[in-house]
Amino acid sequence: MRVSVFGSTGSIGESTFDLLSRSAHHVVALTGGRNVSRLAEQAKLLNAELAVTAYEACLPELRAALEGTGIEATGGTQALIEAANRPVDWVMSAIIGAAGLAPGFAALAQGATLALANKESLVTAGPLLLAEARRHNARILPVDSEHSAVFQALQGEDIAAVERVIITASGGAFRDWPTEKLATATVSQASSHPNWDMGQRITIDSASMFNKAMEVIETREFFGVDPDQIEVLVHPESMVHALVGFRDGALMAHLGAPDMRHAIGYALNWPERAALPVARLDLARLGALHFTAPDPARYPALRLAYEVMEIGGTAGAAFNAAKEIALDGFIAGAIGFLDMATVVEDVLTEMSARQGLGNIAVSLDNIAHTDTEARSLAAHRIAAGRI
Ligand code: NDP
Repeated sequence: MRVSVFGSTGSIGESTFDLLSRSAHHVVALTGGRNVSRLAEQAKLLNAELAVTAYEACLPELRAALEGTGIEATGGTQALIEAANRPVDWVMSAIIGAAGLAPGFAALAQGATLALANKESLVTAGPLLLAEARRHNARILPVDSEHSAVFQALQGEDIAAVERVIITASGGAFRDWPTEKLATATVSQASSHPNWDMGQRITIDSASMFNKAMEVIETREFFGVDPDQIEVLVHPESMVHALVGFRDGALMAHLGAPDMRHAIGYALNWPERAALPVARLDLARLGALHFTAPDPARYPALRLAYEVMEIGGTAGAAFNAAKEIALDGFIAGAIGFLDMATVVEDVLTEMSARQGLGNIAVSLDNIAHTDTEARSLAAHRIAAGRI
């Protein structure tokens, strides 16, 4: 297969790189951001046709690193789109943030299979992305471990027979902290995940459960189930990634070691199952698995996800944008850990009251407009200390 990886220097990108380095797939494009030396190294090791940095200012360094290799180097936002237009069979979408949207659309427009890790795509533009896939007869395969697990549990099943979808959450860095202590949580405490090795932003989003909130919205978009069919369970071992409950009462669970190469490998090899270099679970040694309902006071982000789905329209874009700014504010030390949810809730409330978010049609222009407005409102609140 001809494959490209967008966001190849990140956490998901490195896991994808690992699998590709063990495969015979032909690598067309690899893209990164500022980590130019690693991008060049990956491009050389995988003998890629093209390496792209998202930042034009980083292009001279990338060119220098690839000199004499015959690998093309390009840079900037437009270069990312051009890379996504290159004929391929399979594309990994693992850029973080809203910047991951455009290459995903471009990949679908050429009919490529889109392995989707980038959460923002479905949260902000779910209906558009799915329509684009239908229009070009292209396929989207979920890469988030929970959605991959649901997708796997649904193979050969009728979605009409699904009663509920349960996605699990590790509970993040603070699952055992007393709730009163959460307000004092520091960035370094929030940046260490008990089970998964991921980038800093998604690790903090796991501690606050904004990550799980995004996944709840993604579940609704991708599988078309109603919000009241989606449940979240705290499962500290992170071995069961999701469960699908059917109308006959059966529950199909997907288990695996917490290693993203499983979901990435499944998307890379689908509909086949290929051997993967991931740890095998020893359930007898594990002995017990635990599940609890999430405490709403500890994880207000989860409640906000259901509000976003209730509002509809471009509420997902407002939610994601306000969350990104609130996260920036927390990382910069401008606001506390619990203030992130307050900022996001205030932005949603204000934009719903002023602009009727739910009535705004989901188009790329409206998403961009809502995103800008929500970022500005969130930043303003943080700067003015109105939290
Ligand atoms: P990382 O922060 O580790 O990596 C992000 C990648 O995107 C890097 O290659 C980075 O380049 C690049 N990048 C950053 N900013 C831009 C930009 N503005 N334009 C283009 N490229 C950019 O993220 P993760 O790998 O953790 O996550 C990627 C996506 O997958 C996210 O949406 C995340 O929510 C989702 N996801 C992640 C999981 C995980 O286990 N990590 C699990 C499931 C989903 P560079 O580093 O060179 O600057």
